[in-house]
Amino acid sequence: MKPGLDIVPTSEWGFFTLPRPMCIAGPCSAESEEQVMETARGLAAFGIHVFRAGIWKPRTHPGSFEGVGSKGLPWLRRVKEELGMKICTEIATEKHVLECIKYGVDMVWVGARTSANPFLMQEIADALAGSDIPVLVKNPVNPDLDLWIGALERLNRAGVRKLGVVHRGFSTASRSHYRNDPGWRIAIELRTRFPELAFFADPSHMGGDRKYLLELSQRAMDLGLDGLMVESHCDPSVALSDAKQQLTPADLKTMLESLVIRDNSSDSRAYKEGIEQLRAQIDVIDENLLWLLRSRMDISRKIGSYKKEHNVAILQTGRWDSLLAEMVRKGGEYGLSETAIRAIMTAIHDESVRVQNEILEG
Ligand code: PEP
Ligand code: MN
Repeated sequence: MKPGLDIVPTSEWGFFTLPRPMCIAGPCSAESEEQVMETARGLAAFGIHVFRAGIWKPRTHPGSFEGVGSKGLPWLRRVKEELGMKICTEIATEKHVLECIKYGVDMVWVGARTSANPFLMQEIADALAGSDIPVLVKNPVNPDLDLWIGALERLNRAGVRKLGVVHRGFSTASRSHYRNDPGWRIAIELRTRFPELAFFADPSHMGGDRKYLLELSQRAMDLGLDGLMVESHCDPSVALSDAKQQLTPADLKTMLESLVIRDNSSDSRAYKEGIEQLRAQIDVIDENLLWLLRSRMDISRKIGSYKKEHNVAILQTGRWDSLLAEMVRKGGEYGLSETAIRAIMTAIHDESVRVQNEILEG
């Protein structure tokens, strides 16, 4: 399928008046009218203009708090009427869409467990046809770019033109200390293919812990993303869902003020193609390289134990010579010089021998 989405830019949504980052904030879940109002007041006080709160919560485990349901929608409407904020919530079915339209919800988002399901995406797209509500699509739980794009295409074909995405990381087998693997590479690819899409990062679900919010938000900004969706609760210690990752409005203000925003004009495409963004991409790749090296060394340790058990010498020169020759050949296909490949592989091999030695001597 030919890429290309028919998009209305965020500048025409009437939502985000302040410079980058465009910020959506609010609790993981709407829990009570008081909690919603107190949090929203705290956020509105420092200029947050778009309020989020989950009404229907798709939880991984049954028995967890699954949201207050439609009875929370009047609370959101109060936020809109009394504080003048735009209100948004997560939808996953046709019924949710119809309820949101009924209560004047300004924007909806599709969660990670829903965007992975083409049947639900089609149901939502059909329900939204004819309405003018902006829709943000979170990445599917698994790192499948085509599934994410497919979800966007379904909405777009149904006539949803105020469209954006929220990158919340991927629930793959844990590769990092974060709750979800940031997988920035995939986000960058989507961004490159559809530069017109409003692009948010969700550092709350990515990090899973408030202590990571600043570094993840900074990374999102360095990569040139447009905005942030951050979970904020008036009292995170008693939150019914995602307590660990929520910030008080005051702490969110501090966090946002600590961000270094190198480009404060959201439509400066020139900057986004610029050096800072490229450097941020390099940082992502370097971090991935470190992860790969660590995984490789873990395997070396296993090989070390295996050799020890079977009383075999560490250095198997035949194996090393053929491995190196193969890497030089493959590297050549990627346009990498023989000198570089020899140097890199020799350094890796040296480290691997050192690691195996530790095991044998241990
Ligand atoms: C949420 O935003 O509260 C949520 C459930 O997020 P995700 O779909 O990213 O898990
Ligand atoms: Mn949450």
